[in-house]
Amino acid sequence: MKILILGVNGFIGHHLTNRILATTDWRVYGMDLSEDRLESALCNPRFQFLEGDIAINREWIEYHVKKCDVIMPLVAIATPKLYVEDPIGVYNLDFEMNLNVVKQCVKYRKRVVFPSTSEVYGACPDPEFSEDESFLVVGPIQKERWIYSCCKQLLDRVIYAYGTRGHLEFTLFRPFNWIGPRLDSLYAAKEGSSRVVTQFIAELLMRRPITLVDGGRQKRCFTYVDDGIAALMKILANKDDRCRNEIINIGNPDNECSVAELAHLMKKIFMDHPDHRRDGEYSEITEVAAAEYYGKGYQDIYTRKPSIAKARKLLDWEPAIDLETSLTKTIYSFLEENETHPGTEDRC
Ligand code: UDP
Repeated sequence: MKILILGVNGFIGHHLTNRILATTDWRVYGMDLSEDRLESALCNPRFQFLEGDIAINREWIEYHVKKCDVIMPLVAIATPKLYVEDPIGVYNLDFEMNLNVVKQCVKYRKRVVFPSTSEVYGACPDPEFSEDESFLVVGPIQKERWIYSCCKQLLDRVIYAYGTRGHLEFTLFRPFNWIGPRLDSLYAAKEGSSRVVTQFIAELLMRRPITLVDGGRQKRCFTYVDDGIAALMKILANKDDRCRNEIINIGNPDNECSVAELAHLMKKIFMDHPDHRRDGEYSEITEVAAAEYYGKGYQDIYTRKPSIAKARKLLDWEPAIDLETSLTKTIYSFLEENETHPGTEDRC
């Protein structure tokens, strides 16, 4: 199988590429703006990489859509701070650029495995979000946070419509707060613009206060990336064509915790680490108002728990890595990276 991954250096892209190269005979053609997470893949003969931009390298993309069997357009801004700061940038990249690629998949009749998002459920009141039942609930236009959710939802609907009319074969997957090594860069966290787990790791390293937005009562289900990638591999393999034109949540409902619980658990893991046991001074855990932290365009999501009945049934898959192990592996990998690239701590 030949797979085209746009955004191959991203969090999901590089983990998926490593798994594909290690466990299959598939070929991966990848494009991204940079290659810093791809070190081990770059010398594999079954991996071809182009340093390029989805907005510029259109001919390369079209040529490879034609050439490959499965297309994964993973290029997107997926960080809430940026939804509020740059909603037009989110729209241009996450919607327009990806729509072009989807249209090429229609033109060349190629299977697309597309990243939807748990964010499309928005403020859905269901205790567990179901792919085929739950309402997708977003806030007013002035709350610009929702632009990401809306862009993704409209793409889901366009892809679905092409699919049901026989013009496209697709699988949409919805990751629920995947975490793991190289989730976001610590540089982004320095500016306060990364996802919560990387943000808290950066604060712990810099001994800056960990801030709980609005008291940290909001809950998420953190899913270790290896579990997520295992599900994606099954989607790509598509045994008995079971994933054709399906939408599938990929998350770990057993790993649900509040952001406040997350902060305390992460601080404990950091304080128990051999290199930090004797630091003497650690980040305090404080509170901040959402409007102060994100700006007035922000609105939070208080619960986000997946139903994974469909993933269990279609993929014969079960997440296996518990919350404490997921966080320990993630924190330790960031600390190791910080060790092997001296100066990161200063740069943070
Ligand atoms: N959050 C927080 N402190 C931070 C960063 C994030 O309390 O320093 C909260 C944020 O308000 C949200 C949750 O953590 O409720 C998860 O945020 P993340 O950026 O990871 O993305 P989301 O799950 O909302 O898509």
